[in-house]
Amino acid sequence: MHKPRIILFDLEFMHLNWGADLGLIYCMGWKVLGEKQIHLESVWDTKQRDPLDDKKLCKRLKEILETADMLVTFNGIKCDVPFLQTRLIHHRLGALKPIAHKDVYYTAKFKLKLSRNRLYDVQTFLGFKNKKTPVDLLQWLKALIGNKAAQQEILTHCRQDVLVLEDAYLELRPLMLSHPRLEGYGACNKCGAGLIKNKIYYTADKYPKITMKCVHCGGYETRTLTKKEREEFLNA
Ligand SMILES: [Zn+2]
Repeated sequence: MHKPRIILFDLEFMHLNWGADLGLIYCMGWKVLGEKQIHLESVWDTKQRDPLDDKKLCKRLKEILETADMLVTFNGIKCDVPFLQTRLIHHRLGALKPIAHKDVYYTAKFKLKLSRNRLYDVQTFLGFKNKKTPVDLLQWLKALIGNKAAQQEILTHCRQDVLVLEDAYLELRPLMLSHPRLEGYGACNKCGAGLIKNKIYYTADKYPKITMKCVHCGGYETRTLTKKEREEFLNA
């Protein structure tokens, strides 16, 4: 059976007032969930003549992200993906195709009650071993004018962000009621484990729902019963 390919990623970009029309992507850190290797793609590796030209990088990022069955980000729905889409459209490279996307920011914001909801706050609250690295704002400008040390600092920061993102995703996953279903019904919608217990169903609704708990990742899900389940549970 095809194992879902889940890509966790984070973009770093230069911008004026968060606009992707007045900005460019510096780099993307990414990894496939369940694999060890962390990959870094950067505009500085594309040997572009114009320091503001991120076209080759955008093309590469599109190719990578479109191999995913699901994307995982922290605030990528409002930030990273629209930024990339803007750059892709700008370069006439075509929009990123629709891909299932779980944004851990919304889990932190709506399923927890932290004083602040940044990835850094989740990291410190849960005491992850992986840590985000602070980068002085001036380094972003230095990187633009070709300062190699500043560029390296941003790449290291991006790499660490992916590791912390992975920690946050795995730690908060049990809280995610809505999560793209990557494998069929009968498997956990989050981790794909086949073992689900604690079936509770109620029949007052015209469309009875079922709540289940995964014994592997500890996550819950609530959904409408499939036709087969309706027959199995309600006609028993
Ligand atoms: Zn699970």
